[in-house]
This record gives sequence, C-alpha cells and structure tokens, in this order.
Amino acid sequence: MKIVFANSASVSAAERLILRGGSWTKVRLRVRYGLILHPQTGPVLIDTGYTPHVTQGSERSTALRLYSAILRPELNEAEQPQPVLARFGLSPEDVRTAIVTHFHADHMSGLSLFPNARFIANDAAWARAKAKTAWQNLRHGVFKELFPHGFETRLDGLSSKQQIESRGDVPGGADLFGDGSVVAVDLPGHADGQFGLLFPNMDRPLLYAVDAQWLIAALVENRTPGLPATLLAEDAAALEPTSAMLRRFLATGGEVVLCHDPAATAHDLSGESA
Ligand SMILES: [Zn+2]
Repeated sequence: MKIVFANSASVSAAERLILRGGSWTKVRLRVRYGLILHPQTGPVLIDTGYTPHVTQGSERSTALRLYSAILRPELNEAEQPQPVLARFGLSPEDVRTAIVTHFHADHMSGLSLFPNARFIANDAAWARAKAKTAWQNLRHGVFKELFPHGFETRLDGLSSKQQIESRGDVPGGADLFGDGSVVAVDLPGHADGQFGLLFPNMDRPLLYAVDAQWLIAALVENRTPGLPATLLAEDAAALEPTSAMLRRFLATGGEVVLCHDPAATAHDLSGESA
C-alpha cells in the first residue's frame, strides 16, 4: 500500500495565530490532501484540498466568495487532483472511494470531480451539518453548495465500520477497509466529527492528523495557540487533549503529518517547500 500527499494550494497566516509565542511573520502553509493506492480497494482519496470550486466560478454564493477573498488560497495547478492522479495513470473516474475527514472547504471542495466515488465520512456530523442553516454552517466553515448532488446516497458512514481498540498510546478507531490497514481516529476539537487516519502497518506507523493543529511545532514543542484559534474551534476544550494524544503517539516512535504544516515530509509528492 502506497500513500502520498499532494499540496493543492498555499495559504498564508501570521505564525502567532497558529503557534503559541510565534512571531507576526507570515507562514506559507500547505493545503495537503492524500492518495492511498490500496491493493484491494484501489485508489482512495483523502480529502481533495482546495480546488477552483472555492476560488473561481460565477455560481459561488456571496458567502463562499467572501471566504475565498479573506483566506486567498493560491491554487497549485500542478498538484490539483487531476494531474496528481494522472501521474499514477489514473483519472477521476477511477476513484471509487474518497475519505472526507471533515467538511471544511479546504478538505472537500473538489468532491464533485469524482462521479464514481463513494464518500467515507462521519455520518453523524453530516446529519448535524444538514440540519443547520447556510449561515450557521458558514460560522463553522461549511458550505453546502460544495457537496456534490447525491452526497448522502453515496455516503459510507463511519458508524457502519468495525472498531479497532487502542493499543497503549497507539489510538484505535474505525477500520475503514476491514483489513486494519487504515483506521479512522477521532480528532475532536477543530471541526465537528473530524477524524484522522492511522496507517498502523507501515514501517513507521503514520497518523495523518489533518487539522488537529496547523504546525508540527505546536505539537512537539507544546505550543498550541490560544485565541483566536480556540475561538474558531468547534470544541476548544477538546483541542489540547487531542494534541496530547498525538504527542503520546509521537513518543511511541510514530510519525504525524498535518494538513497545513509547511515542511516537506517523506510522503509528499513535491519535496520542495511550498
Ligand atoms: Zn479544517
């Protein structure tokens, strides 16, 4: 099984906002998404990153235009999903499974590119998002217009998966493909229902911890940011326990990759810094 991460776009943020005791200097963050080449399931996307659905298009709502104008993601054309799939001889039609770690726009804006995909996502969080108004969702960074038609009928909810128990400081979670190769681990705090992905069978076990923090330094140096990061979080009280869980996993010798950390990892397609 192979796992790669691509960088869909860059966004800038003052270091101070994402790292306790950081400077006002802007950090150029990655917006990763991943591709698993699974021997039985085939190509599996992990989120989609930012796609033109957020930054372009006359049909976007005022709220989505405003979101794009404030965050100003700069798309990385070379690592958008289609060219990345093409590097592996694949087309969007070949993708039968897309994992959606949470419903923020920078994780799911490209889902409509994959007409044959079923979506592995947190079905309880989907039910809650569905029940909210557009403006309530905007407060949480969720845009219903970015969900493809028929999302719910194509949803393969986490609640239907077998649970794997945690082992010491290696967390457990939902066994996504029934073979223990990819485990969805709850990462409460950042967004409703957010989960990460544990790959326990790799030489060095890998946990893709999505948006549990922005920077690896916030985890390893114990510098998780305060306001306004905590204000934007779905559940601010859960941020620190989730970070502590990741620190314990790192201490077992595991590797943690985050969506937005700017430093290249061994799993990134492009080694150069974004
Ligand atoms: Zn997020």
